[in-house]
Amino acid sequence: MRDIKLAAIKKEDSKTIIYVDDVAIGNGFCVIAGPCSVENEKQTIETAIAVKKAGADMLRGGAFKPRTSPYAFQGLGLMGLKILKKAKAETGLPIVTEVIDTRDVPWVSEYADVLQIGARNMQNFSLLKEVGKARKPVLLKRGMNSTIEEWLYCAEYILNEGNPEVILCERGIRTFETYTRNTLDISSVPCLKGLTHLPVIVDPSHASGMANLVPYLSYAAVAAGADGLIVEVHIKPEDAICDKNQTLNTVEFARMMKKIRSLYAFIEENQ
Ligand code: PEP
Ligand code: MN
Repeated sequence: MRDIKLAAIKKEDSKTIIYVDDVAIGNGFCVIAGPCSVENEKQTIETAIAVKKAGADMLRGGAFKPRTSPYAFQGLGLMGLKILKKAKAETGLPIVTEVIDTRDVPWVSEYADVLQIGARNMQNFSLLKEVGKARKPVLLKRGMNSTIEEWLYCAEYILNEGNPEVILCERGIRTFETYTRNTLDISSVPCLKGLTHLPVIVDPSHASGMANLVPYLSYAAVAAGADGLIVEVHIKPEDAICDKNQTLNTVEFARMMKKIRSLYAFIEENQ
C-alpha cells in the first residue's frame, strides 16, 4: 500500500481521536444509533430519546437515501434534516447523516455533525473530494465490493483535501453467502488497526440484514477492537419504511447496550 500516506499508521503516530461536541471517537467505545431513515418528527424524536436513554452517543438517520430501486422512498431531504436538528435540540445527541450528492455537501454540513458516505458512494471520487473540503468529520462506509486497500485509498482522497477527520465503517461485503444480507468482514477491524491511525467502527445492521444477529455481531465488534458501532434502531421496526428486518426496537437496543458496556469494560481491564 505504497500510496497510503496520510491514512497510514506511523511508528511514532498516535491514534486519531475525533471529537464531535463532547463525544470522542477513537477513545473509548462510541455508539451511533437511530433509524435507517427519518420518516417523521415523532418517529425520529421518540427513537432519539430512547437510544439516548440506553446510552447511545450519537443519532443516525438518513434524509437522503441511496435506494436500490428508484421507486423506493428516497428520504425527506431538507425536511428530514430539520427533524434531525430538532431531535438534537431535544436530546443533545450529535447527528450522523448521509450525503449523496456533491452539490448538497455545503448545506447538509450545516445540519450534520458527521457526514456519512454510504457504501454505494465509497468510490464516488468527486463526492470524496467535496467532503474532504468540508469542516465536518466524515464516516466512510466500506463499499460492498471493495478491498481494504481500495477503502483506504478512498479515506486518502478525503484526507488529501485537508479534512483529517475520517471514521472508517465496516458494514459487510458481498460474498457467495446469501442467507445474510452481507458478510461482516470482522477481520478488517484488527487489520485496519495495524494499517491506519483512523478510528474504525462496525455497522452490524447492514452487515447482517437480520435484527436477531445484530447483538452478536456487535459483541464481535467490541472483541475485535472496534472503536464503536452504528446501529439501526426504530420505535416500531415493523413499521419502518426502510430496512425493517435489520432494525432493533428500543428494548432490544437497551439490552444489547448493557452487554456491550460490560464486555467493553472486561476487555479494557484484561488487556
Ligand atoms: C445506511 O446506513 O442506511 C446505508 C444505506 O448503509 P450502506 O451505505 O452501508 O448500505
Ligand atoms: Mn439502512
